[in-house]
Amino acid sequence: MKENKPTTERYTLADLEKWREVAGNIDPPIRLAVLGDPVAHSLSPQIQNAALRACGIEAQYARFHIRANELRSALCLLRDLNFVGVNLTVPHKIAAFAQIDQADESASRVGAVNTILLRDKKLIGSNTDGEGFVRSIRSEFSVDVRDLRVMILGAGGGTGHAVSWQCALENCERLVLVNRTHEKAAALAERLRAYFAGPRVLGPAARLEAVEWEEVALRAQLADVDLIVNATPLGMNPSDPSPIPARLLAPHHMVFDAVYGPSKTSLLRAADEAGARGVNGLSMLLHQGALAFQTWFDREAPIDVMRAVL
Ligand code: NAP
Repeated sequence: MKENKPTTERYTLADLEKWREVAGNIDPPIRLAVLGDPVAHSLSPQIQNAALRACGIEAQYARFHIRANELRSALCLLRDLNFVGVNLTVPHKIAAFAQIDQADESASRVGAVNTILLRDKKLIGSNTDGEGFVRSIRSEFSVDVRDLRVMILGAGGGTGHAVSWQCALENCERLVLVNRTHEKAAALAERLRAYFAGPRVLGPAARLEAVEWEEVALRAQLADVDLIVNATPLGMNPSDPSPIPARLLAPHHMVFDAVYGPSKTSLLRAADEAGARGVNGLSMLLHQGALAFQTWFDREAPIDVMRAVL
């Protein structure tokens, strides 16, 4: 007899290797997955399962704890098991780009993948983080990215790449790229340079810069920045320091933390202390998830149902 098990639990590569034994009785079957390390924090199963139920789709979505060196094997198994779709989270987005058979434009320009559609035994990669970010900024701050001067912390990671590219495509006023490993931000700035050729900002500040992650450089840049984005995992652990200390923030700053668990991250506490407006990554999760659902099922996602579970 089939059992109707909830899929909020976590599976591993070992489970995938004997999947029929582990999950053969689960009804509806698990046919979508988020892979990450860590992954326990992910709220994607909640929003996607609500969407699947609302649309009457006989499938469930589960989280899989997959380490960096297990990604390739996990993707091959998911393909052979006829999964419908996969999301990638930290640290897999850039590595997954090398593992897919095809990439759409959103993934190929960024060089990172957060959504995979499995069709005819092929892995087709796309990236919904950039568009999800823009929608989230619009809904949370009632402003368009194109009107903003933006600083991305963690520009060298998968999310940082997607968000930086989207800022360039939207022709934002100004973009400042910051990364712990500075070379990655500098290399990305070179690739984005053509988008910032035209003059737009009044005043002497350059429209595109990659700067070192150190206080003097950040302080100088923050005078000419409206929106600060944390695209690092800093803040996922309650004991993490804020990626930017409160003393560098000012009341005119909008602070967006892609991290959403805990809901009040160290960066958002720093924003409160400085009198700045802060928002966590829940609405980006919602929008990138709705776009992923659309990719897998070729139909509009029931976004109100997904929002309600958050
Ligand atoms: P990733 O590809 O592994 O990139 C991590 C980035 O953070 C890199 O730039 C890395 O710098 C930097 N970094 C890591 N540890 C750091 C530290 N201790 N101090 C300073 N910088 C550090 O990860 P990702 O997939 O982009 O995810 C990043 C975060 O965004 C995760 O917390 C994820 O949950 C969140 N996210 C949320 C949403 C949403 O919908 N809300 C969507 C996407 C991602 P180096 O280059 O120097 O290693």
